[in-house]
Amino acid sequence: LIFIDVLSVFFNCRGGGLVAYSDAKPHNAVNVVESSPTAANKKRVVVLGTGWAGTSFLKNLDSATYDVHVISPRNYFAFTPLLPSVTCGTVEARSVVEPIRNIIRKKDGDYSFWEAECFKIDEKNKKVHCRPVQRESPEGKEEFIVDYDYLVVAMGARSNTFNTPGVEENCHFLKEVEDAQKIRRNVIDCFEKSCLPNLSEDERKKHLHFVVVGGGPTGVEFSAALLDFISEDLVMLYPTAKDLVKITLLEAGDHILTMFDKRITAFAEEKFQRDGINLKTGSMVVKVTDKDICTKDRGTGEISSIPYGMVVWSTGIGTRPVVTDFMKQIGQSNRRVLATDEWLRVEGCDSIYALGDCATINQRKVMEDISAIFNKADKDQSGTLTTKEFQDALDDICERYPQVELYLKDKQVKNIVDLLKDSKGNDKKETLEMDIEGFKSALSQVDSKVKFLPATAQVAAQQGKYLARCFNEMEERTKNPEGPPRFRGVGRHRFHPFRYRHLGQFAPLGGEQTAAQLPGDWVSIGHSSQWLWYSVYASKQVSWRTRMLVVSDWGRRFIFGRDSSRI
Ligand code: FAD
Repeated sequence: LIFIDVLSVFFNCRGGGLVAYSDAKPHNAVNVVESSPTAANKKRVVVLGTGWAGTSFLKNLDSATYDVHVISPRNYFAFTPLLPSVTCGTVEARSVVEPIRNIIRKKDGDYSFWEAECFKIDEKNKKVHCRPVQRESPEGKEEFIVDYDYLVVAMGARSNTFNTPGVEENCHFLKEVEDAQKIRRNVIDCFEKSCLPNLSEDERKKHLHFVVVGGGPTGVEFSAALLDFISEDLVMLYPTAKDLVKITLLEAGDHILTMFDKRITAFAEEKFQRDGINLKTGSMVVKVTDKDICTKDRGTGEISSIPYGMVVWSTGIGTRPVVTDFMKQIGQSNRRVLATDEWLRVEGCDSIYALGDCATINQRKVMEDISAIFNKADKDQSGTLTTKEFQDALDDICERYPQVELYLKDKQVKNIVDLLKDSKGNDKKETLEMDIEGFKSALSQVDSKVKFLPATAQVAAQQGKYLARCFNEMEERTKNPEGPPRFRGVGRHRFHPFRYRHLGQFAPLGGEQTAAQLPGDWVSIGHSSQWLWYSVYASKQVSWRTRMLVVSDWGRRFIFGRDSSRI
């Protein structure tokens, strides 16, 4: 089967394909132009972004039904979980990307792709304003406007600097493929510089000091990958660097990998100390200059200045300017990311959907709805619910908010009930009466713990798939709704709300060891999890082409080591 699949991919790649694309007229336009009219009788769907969310949406969309226009400044999909491996040459950059045109050419229907960035969403007139990405030549830079019937915003996020002075100018980020390539070149550059004649030992040490800011999964994985690159390959080629090279990992909080199980955090911290990574927790970066990085100790308030050869900044994600601007237009300016309902529709905008890192389900609204469901269940307005009423209300909530259900199932329901009992000292034995105010306050206490959706590729891909299914079944579901009862108004909702299924997470820690946290709090750390990591990441590749490239890169690295040429 694999062989047949590989062959079909090969012929698909070579064969020219049977799919016809729409004309990309706006590219050649001189002035601001409207795009070509929508294909006959088809609604136009404009997709912004070709990352995890956008690509998953495109792959799963029934293309015969819609006229689809994809707009993104990059004409490929990038498998971001392997970017840390690209920084050290464990896999090559081209092995983790798939041209978006390869993906859409396999679909039947009206698809077009424009390599451009959207700089304005005009919600009132249902238009997006775009400009081609900057190229060397001055031609083809004219802005253009595209109308939509439905807009899918999947623009992801950018690196967050928290406005720390000097970060933008002096640090590397690890968000895009280009970032990973730059880091790879820069690491080798630092080693080469450290070998030049006429340098003092302090200057050599400075060049060989690699600082990573942020102890989240990306910062930790990059530190581990860098250590492997240095200890397995570079020290053999640069013997004088062996005793001078240093990796420092700065984390503002008390621990690294805080989103993982405590056992993983403890193991990672111990392993890093053992391996010689200088882990500094409680250390906030306040400024970065071209020579050193200034940190403030959260406990003592002491400011230190550390000379560096290279800094990689990985402290989380921030909002893209175009999304910030759009949020202002629709009255969401006090938010960090776009707020959607549970069907991924941007709040207040009927035809705009947002998914992936640029959006989240509005948590405050969820809590308000939950309170309202409880108030409704309290028919006699006595301020109390019987256990049965409480359970029914809870069932309603879970049908409407699957994430709450998952959360409640996940042992937290016990905490809520305990908090409730404590708040009123209810008798726990027989007919338990639930106090609504008590429940709400209990819920608000756990509110911050209800992690509806983390910003991960897993969430983005599942959202893309869910939304495509909704689009595919739009007509059928309008006639035969299948979702939960509408909370306000009559009837049922057309669709079931989005339900995220957490499949687990990995933290590669270097030295062929990985920590895996799988559903049900199952934790595994070590070499066996590394093999699980290899198999999962190979299987999750978007095409057989990238799968084969990635696996052969791993094989090449095992046999020949990583390439240290600075190209
Ligand atoms: P993205 O994948 O970032 O895609 C955004 C798309 O929008 C891109 O195509 C971009 O070019 C396009 N775009 C940007 N601006 C515009 C514009 N103005 N107009 C139109 N298009 C635009 N998650 C995991 O689950 N597991 C992991 O192991 C993991 N590892 C990671 C490692 C690294 C180094 C990084 C950076 C992230 C990692 N993540 C991981 C997180 C994951 O990559 C993101 O959560 C995921 O990419 C979000 O998908 P998205 O589609 O929202 O955004």
